[in-house]
Amino acid sequence: MVIHLATILPVNQQQEHIDYQQLKANIKAWAKESGFQQAGISDVNLKQAGEHLKNWLKKQHHADMEYMHKHGEKRYQPEALVPGTLSVISVRLDYMQTSLTPYEELTKQVSKAAISRYALGRDYHKVIRNKLKKLVAKISAEIGPFGHRVFTDSAPVMEKAIAEKAGLGWIGKHSNLINSKAGSYFFLGEIYTDLPLEPDRKQSFHCGSCTQCIQDCPTDAIIAPFQVDASRCISYLTIENHGPIPEEFRKAMGNRIYGCDDCQVVCPWNKFTQNTAEPDFAPRHHLDDSELLELFLWDEETFLQNTAGSPIRRIGYQSWQRNLAVGMGNSKPHANIIEALKQKVNSASPMVKEHIEWALTELSKQTSTPIA
Ligand code: SF4
Repeated sequence: MVIHLATILPVNQQQEHIDYQQLKANIKAWAKESGFQQAGISDVNLKQAGEHLKNWLKKQHHADMEYMHKHGEKRYQPEALVPGTLSVISVRLDYMQTSLTPYEELTKQVSKAAISRYALGRDYHKVIRNKLKKLVAKISAEIGPFGHRVFTDSAPVMEKAIAEKAGLGWIGKHSNLINSKAGSYFFLGEIYTDLPLEPDRKQSFHCGSCTQCIQDCPTDAIIAPFQVDASRCISYLTIENHGPIPEEFRKAMGNRIYGCDDCQVVCPWNKFTQNTAEPDFAPRHHLDDSELLELFLWDEETFLQNTAGSPIRRIGYQSWQRNLAVGMGNSKPHANIIEALKQKVNSASPMVKEHIEWALTELSKQTSTPIA
């Protein structure tokens, strides 16, 4: 249940006698009981992060994600988004299954589909929201109703900046959050609240002189430390982008057909990756190790069935086929792959058709046998 802060401010008066130091310690313990690996507390001063965001938008690095412009200051002023907010409870949840075929191995097997490891199981929005609700229930059971609103990558919330301020890690040069004990393969969630909790200390920066993620990004999307140009980023190109994938990036995409983990794969801090305890993140339909061809043969109904409850579903069938066509164009000219591409070329939408034609042209460069 979401309680809107503006409607319950009198409750604050009933909270005068709460021991907030003890409550903060309890919240961290209850967060773990609710399934999170860690919780921390941030204040609501996100001025520095707001400046960084404004600069990024000014440089047009958000590509066509126009929603990043929306909500204005609400994004970096939590009390403007939810009036009455005094503190933010920030939580993290590990998602990596360490027993799976490593992503870097998959990207070398050109007939396989490399799907970002966060997207293999159940949609994290639902998983995190349910856990946040459990945490809220525990707090309410202790202190009674309190003003709050829960978020998980679902509203104009600067979740990485908040988590950094809450001591959950630091923002690395690739712009993801890194935890010194767990690497970077985790999700974040937030509870905006009117509870006056003491903020935790921001974690210090530990990238040092390393620039591995900048050097190894397949499309040179990290144009400077902490500056990702979304229009070059494979995650953006394969997920947020609903139009054609610019030709200049198609070869570099390889077989990455949903998101890209490369900047995290090369990060030395990910040697500390922890195996997730969350069964909901187990891969569905062998998405962790599927053949491109097998996924390309899914018709729309199968796509919708097999991605129900998965974050992959939101890109839609056209983008799914577009991405797979690029992956297949970067694979080997096996007869089955060529046949599948040819069979779909005439029934595909104009956008997918153009990507299929590109794939057939690329495959034809690898063989002396005419493909067309
Ligand atoms: S690869 Fe190096 S520079 Fe990039 S985030 Fe990791 S530690 Fe920082």
